[in-house]
Amino acid sequence: MDLLIGGTRAPSSSGAILSILEPATGLELTTVASGDAADVELAIRAARDSFDAGVWAGQSATARGRVLLRVAALIREDLEDIATLEARNAGKPIGDARWEVNAAAGVFEYYAGAANKIFGETIPVQDAGIDMVLREPVGVCALIVPWNFPLLITTWKTAPALACGNSVIIKPASLTPLTALRLGEILVEAGVPAGCVSVLPGPGRVIGDALVSDRRVDKIGFTGETTTGASILRASSENITRVSLELGGKSACVVFADADWEKAAAETPMSVFANTGQDCCARSRIVVEDSIYDDFVAAFTRATESLQVGTPLDETTEIGPMISTAQRQVSLDYLDIAAAEGAERVTGGIVPDDPGFYLSPAVLAGVDNAMRVAQEEIFGPVASIIPFRDEADAIRIANDTPYGLSGSIWTRDLGRAIRTAKAIRTGVLSVNTNKSVRTEAPFGGYKHSGLGRELGMHAMHHYTEVKNLFLSSE
Ligand code: NDP
Repeated sequence: MDLLIGGTRAPSSSGAILSILEPATGLELTTVASGDAADVELAIRAARDSFDAGVWAGQSATARGRVLLRVAALIREDLEDIATLEARNAGKPIGDARWEVNAAAGVFEYYAGAANKIFGETIPVQDAGIDMVLREPVGVCALIVPWNFPLLITTWKTAPALACGNSVIIKPASLTPLTALRLGEILVEAGVPAGCVSVLPGPGRVIGDALVSDRRVDKIGFTGETTTGASILRASSENITRVSLELGGKSACVVFADADWEKAAAETPMSVFANTGQDCCARSRIVVEDSIYDDFVAAFTRATESLQVGTPLDETTEIGPMISTAQRQVSLDYLDIAAAEGAERVTGGIVPDDPGFYLSPAVLAGVDNAMRVAQEEIFGPVASIIPFRDEADAIRIANDTPYGLSGSIWTRDLGRAIRTAKAIRTGVLSVNTNKSVRTEAPFGGYKHSGLGRELGMHAMHHYTEVKNLFLSSE
């Protein structure tokens, strides 16, 4: 499969190829052209020329919205094929993949409607005249995406960027470029001008560096590891390029004894183990009041053991394989570290005799928040259950991490829910549920979990510049 440069299929300049594996079998699924700096140059030129000529930003916001609605319709028409591609490439259960493709279409519908609602302001200044604030597109946006939600996270950046009138250059993860390439084709088919759309698979360091260090790129939208985000931030300082970062997490699910803790114990395993734990929002620390701790661990373990681990295309599968053997090894290493630090593995952590990259969901009890398994992002199916004494102790533990992305609080006491929610320093919190992401609401992190917010109207701040314009009446 070729690259997409300026809306047109093209082989890579170097002829290099990426071998794309299928996590369920460990075998090659297909090959994809692997871009390098020469391809980045072509993509930037196409994006820059298109933006500077105003072919997309010059259209009315309503017209852009209509095109984005067409994108959503085309995604829905092709839903089953795209979901199957995502399930096979990323190892996702087909039901989850369908949900994500449907959500991806919903993201385009949301930003189609938002395109003509990017309002400016008028400001009552002291000078005679009218002072107004205009929101204008930033220009060329480089959008760098990880492998855990390949299509959905691509849409979180691409849809608002296009709604605002920008050109986009999408850099998918090397492990999972297939659905981003398909999305690129759909964008052009729907009517986004060809020059505004490039999709460049290829090594992150090469493509990423070339994009981040180029002064013709106006904005970097990145999701991935905190260390990669920090390196992008350093590189972008040279050209003062605008950067937004969605990074890692080590979120806490706090369960008070007064909660419907049996419901929490039944539902919370999927908040860690969905997507085989490869989720920045995973509640990988379950922080439980000590008076219910043993009963909660038993119920949580029962619920975990009832999860259906299986092949992605089996309709009954709830947990698929991991993305790679390397990613699985990270989890196995952390299970060894946990054992050495004195945690008890209650269930899971078993590698079956299967060529796929499977690992059964692992539950650790007796975890202290100072242990490495409680402090470091594992990005795999490992849950740590940590006891707490009282409300203050729960808040201290929840905040005792370098990250601040997501989290949950389970309690029937409204006052306690409000106090705890205000005290926990994290970008997204839910009370009596574990869901994190809603298309219409801002998503992003405190502390090492990132900079800026995606989704909702908050995302429009990333993709617009603010211009203050004064019209004199004198
Ligand atoms: P990486 O940071 O390794 O990669 C993310 C993307 O960045 C990939 O496309 C990668 O390309 C590219 N990349 C790698 N190096 C560079 C570089 N030097 N400059 C520019 N781009 C680069 O993360 P993973 O793909 O391993 O994703 C998992 C991580 O992402 C986890 O830590 C997770 O928490 C985080 N994440 C955060 C989310 C959030 O919203 N906060 C959501 C999802 C994931 P290549 O694949 O070619 O290496």
